[in-house]
Amino acid sequence: MKGSDALHTLPGIGPALAKKYAILGLDTLHDLADYYPRRYEDYSQVTAIDKLLPGAVSIAASIISSKGRYVRRGMHITEAVAQDATGSVRLVWFNQPYRAAALKSGHQYFISGNYELKQQRFILQNPSVELASDLPTNTARILPIYRETKGLTSRQIRLAMRNAEPYIRSVPESLPKTIVTEQKLASKQQALAYLHFPESAEDLETARRRLGFEEVFCLSLASLLNKQENRTETALQIAFDEALAKTFVGHLPFMLTDAQRKVAWQIYKDLQKVEPMNRLVEGDVGSGKTVVAAMAAVMALAQGWQVALMAPTELLARQHAETIYKLLDPIGYASTVGLLVGSLNQAKKTKARSAIASGDIRFMIGTQALIQETVDMQKLALIIIDEQHRFGVDQRKTLMAKAGHMPHVLSLTATPIPRTLALTLYGELDVSVLDQKPGGRMPIITEIHSPNSRKQLYEKIEAELVEGRQMFVVCPLITDSTMLEANSAEKVYEQLRKKDFKHRRVGLLHGKLKPEEKQAVMEQFVKHDFDILVSTTVIEVGVDVPNASIMLVESSERFGLAQLHQLRGRVGRGKDQGYCYLMLTDSKPVSRRLRALESSNDGFKLAELDLQLRGPGAIYGTSQHGALDLRIAKLSDVKLISSARQAAQELIDSGVNLVQYTELMITVTRLRAITNLN
Ligand code: ADP
Ligand code: MG
Repeated sequence: MKGSDALHTLPGIGPALAKKYAILGLDTLHDLADYYPRRYEDYSQVTAIDKLLPGAVSIAASIISSKGRYVRRGMHITEAVAQDATGSVRLVWFNQPYRAAALKSGHQYFISGNYELKQQRFILQNPSVELASDLPTNTARILPIYRETKGLTSRQIRLAMRNAEPYIRSVPESLPKTIVTEQKLASKQQALAYLHFPESAEDLETARRRLGFEEVFCLSLASLLNKQENRTETALQIAFDEALAKTFVGHLPFMLTDAQRKVAWQIYKDLQKVEPMNRLVEGDVGSGKTVVAAMAAVMALAQGWQVALMAPTELLARQHAETIYKLLDPIGYASTVGLLVGSLNQAKKTKARSAIASGDIRFMIGTQALIQETVDMQKLALIIIDEQHRFGVDQRKTLMAKAGHMPHVLSLTATPIPRTLALTLYGELDVSVLDQKPGGRMPIITEIHSPNSRKQLYEKIEAELVEGRQMFVVCPLITDSTMLEANSAEKVYEQLRKKDFKHRRVGLLHGKLKPEEKQAVMEQFVKHDFDILVSTTVIEVGVDVPNASIMLVESSERFGLAQLHQLRGRVGRGKDQGYCYLMLTDSKPVSRRLRALESSNDGFKLAELDLQLRGPGAIYGTSQHGALDLRIAKLSDVKLISSARQAAQELIDSGVNLVQYTELMITVTRLRAITNLN
């Protein structure tokens, strides 16, 4: 058996079943061995029948009777009785007519299933049964549960794993042998065997440590190699004009925070180098990232070069364009700013294009698609990416591949991963943190409410609305369907408009609206044509309405911690006290996640906590980057991460030719393509 063997070479897998495996992305034995269980159920304890307790159980017993019958059309029942030295128990299967004939008296079986009360009797319903003389696959062991698809169950996948066991136990080592020894790791084959056929919790721990190490090691290696390569590229050197910087800062309507000053200075130093900058600025919502980005842009504009700012949504692009226009106006650079979004009419687009061609517009702000086709890569010196995790990796890469030189890249994000972790996982990025918020803002008051207290809450809110404040109401994404999502927001909208706040002006914003409609609604809200704006999560990132001081999140338990923190950042941006009300769907106990939000306003602390509460990690927290997510390693496992990171650095420093590690290089090459921000 070898890794490249197709799955249909395994017994029991024909062309039809092979297709189902293909749906799960499994074509070869290698793929199968690499298919990690999602979780486990422990059926390893074999219990005497008279000692059975409700729940997941295994027994060793013989079958003393079995018969099948149709109770009605389309409903077949097999009933059997299993017996050991201590007693007997009834087994019941639904719609598995082959069962009765397969159960032979006189044989010893392992039987695993859920021991449960059905019509006043304890039975085992739809249990797995295997001859005790065979190697257990679906009974009497710790059972791996795999991601399934229609017509392909974990039971079947476990059987395939059993049949592929000789291969799994002979998988070649993928890490350099010295590292396996030094780090006291299990071999690859041992780890995979433990993962698919664990006999104890220790086995699983050993497997996880080895495979988790390898994951982080590969990711670190990929980003370090990217950084190495990045160093050899050339960028346009952007000179630092101190007088210009001073003039810009002098015209701001506020004092920069020390953190903003420090980060801007780091960026200025990067921009002067011929080596392309690749810097991530992490800053909590409201920490003032836009000004810092503008400070960087000004230097490039002063040299006559182009700057592109890409935002994840049109709404945000428009708002950025407006903000930046205002920031650059006092120093005479406002006319260089151009907005490039899909919903501009043809005339405006044409005008923008010719202004870009003539060099009048040099600071392009928009969503990525339009920027991509309009920038003159020869003149593009700096790319600013707002909320970088929202951009498709491919889009980023195509944009950057066009130039003869490499643009400097500045990424801004408000959903931070802790700095130490960022450094470890993204060795290719330099990370700056805006760890300070502009002064004079009161912390937002956050409260969790259950529907029981809705009436009192609305009275409190009304008291604020009377004072002239405004409120966002955010409804959750119920399914992936924009249709249903819109419906849920629409329902809340109707309820508020016709009943609870019928004397108020209520607006509605959801993903089904066209960009220009969204923009229009948003503008109305900014102008205070609405007191209340009901929306789906389209307002999540960046939208600035200083007079909106209240955020009410419906069914808040459905949101992630980071997302709620982002939403909360939409209020308390003006001079008034901000409030964030987290409404629950019902009065079930409140989760630790929500409690954490109530007690902390610090995005970094919340990010740390989020990591601890989560299992293996979604690195960017969004599914579109699934390819980068860790399957095994926990992002909160600092020790594992730093030792893997260090080992990767040492391997590179040792100067060995990495090509000899074929398996490793295949993985690393794939990861490099994903993580490369250049
Ligand atoms: P974010 O980091 O969330 O992108 P923004 O750049 O949108 O934050 O800034 C949030 C608000 O804070 C804006 O209205 C901005 O003008 C204001 N702001 C930025 N820096 C300062 C500062 N140093 N002092 C006071 N207000 C500031
Ligand atoms: Mg922002």
